[in-house]
Amino acid sequence: MATKPAGRSKKNPGRTAKARTRKNPARPSASRSTKQKPARPLTRREVEELRRFLEAEQVRLNEELEAIEERLPEVEQVGMDASGSYDEDLVDVASDTFEREKGLAIENSVHQLLHQVEEALTRVEKGSYGICQVCEQPIHPDRLRALPYARLCIRCKEREERALPR
Ligand SMILES: [Zn+2]
Repeated sequence: MATKPAGRSKKNPGRTAKARTRKNPARPSASRSTKQKPARPLTRREVEELRRFLEAEQVRLNEELEAIEERLPEVEQVGMDASGSYDEDLVDVASDTFEREKGLAIENSVHQLLHQVEEALTRVEKGSYGICQVCEQPIHPDRLRALPYARLCIRCKEREERALPR
């Protein structure tokens, strides 16, 4: 009569449970999330291509800024000089101000984009283009093709977004 070994699976239950909840940051290779292969650095040719794209983008954004500035309505100062029937003027000014605010908001975002493009071009000059500014690992070429002015790899970007206060 053979007795089956019972209760063999109950080995230090408390210890294993504890070990599982604790992540070990000292072993990066332990986290194999397979969907992210380690990125290879860009080839010179790829950097060249992206640089040309960034330069074209810089030109385009500058033109866009000029166009926005031309369209921005001038907001006249409404003088409060006594005799005025300035009611109608105020309505005009209000709508002009609204248009202007809208225009300025767009201008602002174009400015920011232009700034990012220019920074990326600076990194091309310095030879640090395509390198994550946080972990200093190569940024995946696919990511750079999608977002040529990316300064962080996707992991660091996600981490940064999680850390941002809402
Ligand atoms: Zn990174």
